[in-house]
Amino acid sequence: MIQLFNTLSRKKQRFKAIRAKQVGLYTCGPTVYFYAHIGNLRTFLFEDILKRVLYFNGYQVRHVMNITDVGHLTSDADTGEDKIEKEAKKERKTAWEIAKFYTKAFKRDLSLLNIKSPDIWCKATDYIKDQIDFIKILERKGFTYKIKDGIYFDTSKLKTYGRLWPEEMRKIFQKKDLKEFQKYARIPMVEGKKSPTDFALWKFTPKGVKRQMEWDSPWGRGFPGWHTECVVMSAKHLGVPFDIHCGGIDHILIHHTNEIAQAEAAFGKILARFWLHGEFLLLKEGKMAKSKGNIITLGEIIKKGFDPLSFRYLCLTSHYRSQLRFSWESLKSAQNALFSLKEKFREIREKSEKEKSLKKISKRAKRYLNDFLTFINDDLNTPKALALLWKVIKDEKLSNKEKEKIVLEFDKIFGLRLKKVKKLKIPQEVKKLVEQREKYRRKKEWEKADAIREKLKKMGYLIEDTKEGPKIKKINQI
Ligand code: AMP
Ligand code: ZN
Repeated sequence: MIQLFNTLSRKKQRFKAIRAKQVGLYTCGPTVYFYAHIGNLRTFLFEDILKRVLYFNGYQVRHVMNITDVGHLTSDADTGEDKIEKEAKKERKTAWEIAKFYTKAFKRDLSLLNIKSPDIWCKATDYIKDQIDFIKILERKGFTYKIKDGIYFDTSKLKTYGRLWPEEMRKIFQKKDLKEFQKYARIPMVEGKKSPTDFALWKFTPKGVKRQMEWDSPWGRGFPGWHTECVVMSAKHLGVPFDIHCGGIDHILIHHTNEIAQAEAAFGKILARFWLHGEFLLLKEGKMAKSKGNIITLGEIIKKGFDPLSFRYLCLTSHYRSQLRFSWESLKSAQNALFSLKEKFREIREKSEKEKSLKKISKRAKRYLNDFLTFINDDLNTPKALALLWKVIKDEKLSNKEKEKIVLEFDKIFGLRLKKVKKLKIPQEVKKLVEQREKYRRKKEWEKADAIREKLKKMGYLIEDTKEGPKIKKINQI
C-alpha cells in the first residue's frame, strides 16, 4: 500500500490508480532559457523516486513531461518579458536555438543523475493549435475576457477556484477582500485585469514588437500563457482525470492552481487526483535564483570534481517534503558516503562470489526487504530507507549473497548505479609495487615504503594495512 501526501486533500492518502495497474503521471518540466539549477534538479529527482516506487509496487507508469519553450514570463503576474526571448537577445541567438540548446543540456543532466526519462516529452510550441482550441472551450463556457494585452481567465466565475490554497486564503478570496488577499498572494495587479488572480490564456504580441515565437489566433497574433500549456498537454496525453501531477512547492499557489481551474472550467472535472510537491533546495543565504546570480548547476558540481550521483545521494538523505540546505561541505560528505558505500558493496560482491548460491532467503533478509517497502511506500521516505541500507551493509548476520541481493533490490529505488560496482581489476604493475612495499615494511625501511605508497596514490590507488595484509582501493572508485 502506497501512502502519498496529497496537497489537494492536505493529508497523506492511500494511493490507488484509476486504471488498476497503470499510472498516469505528469511532471512540470523545465523552462529552457538556461541550465537547470540544482534546486530544479532536486524536484526532478524526487519525481524520479516517485516513479521508481510506483514501478517497485508493480505499476506501469505513463510519464509525461513538458518542455516550456514559450510563454513563461519573468513575472507571475503575466507581465514582463518571455524568459526565452529575453535570453535569446542576451546570447544573440534565436529563441528556437536557446530552447533547443537548453533542452539538450537538461536531458543530459537527467541522464547524469540517472533519472529515468519520461515516456512522452512534449514542448509547448508543438501544441499551439491544441491550446487555441482549449481556450475556445473556455471562451464558449464564459470563463474568459479580453483586455488590451490578452485573453484572460476570469477566476471569479469558478466557485472552487484555489483548491490547493490554505483554507483561510480561500475564504478571504471568496469574500473578495483584495487588500487582505494580497498579503497572501502578493500577485501585483495588472491594469485591466478584474482580479489579481485572473491569468493570461493568450497574450497579444505588443504593438510595434516582432516576437520570434508568435502565432495567429482568433483573438489576435500572440502566444499562449504558461498555465494553459500544462493543462492542455497533460489532458491530451493522459485524459482527465489522471493519477498524479507533480512539481515544486512554488507551483502550488499559482501555476497548479490555475491548471486545476482551467480543467474544471473546461471539463467539469479535477485534472489529477494526486498533487505532489517537492520542497525547495536552499542555499545558506536563502533562495537560489537566477536573478540573484547565485545558482549552482550540475555542470559546476562536476567541474569541481564531484560525481553527479553524489548530488543524487545528498537528495536521498532528506525527505522530499523537507527543505534541503545545500552546502559544498554537505555535498562532500554525501560523496564520501557514496564512495564508501560502493567500496563496501564491492567487498560484499567479491566475498559473495565465494559463497554457495542462495537457495532460500533468511527471515532476517525478508524483514529488511519488508521494512524497506514500508519506508518507501510511506510517502517516499528515502532518509529512512537509506539508513536501512547502511544497516544491511553492516549486518554481520547476513550472508554476503543475501546482502548483495538486498542492496541491488534497494538500488532500484535509490538509482545509485550499484549494479555497476564490479570486482577491482588491479594492474600487474600496481600489484608488484604493493609487494615491493611489503618487503620494505618487513625490513622496517619506512621511507622507501612510504615513497611507494605516494607513488601508488598518484596512480590512483590507496593502500590500507589490515590484519590480513595490505588492501588495495581505487581512489574515487565509481
Ligand atoms: P522551472 O524551470 O522554473 O519551471 O522549474 C522547474 C521545476 O523546479 C519546477 O517543478 C519548480 O517548482 C522546481 N523548482 C524551482 N526552484 C526550485 C528550488 N530551489 N528547489 C526545488 N525545486 C525548485
Ligand atoms: Zn506545469
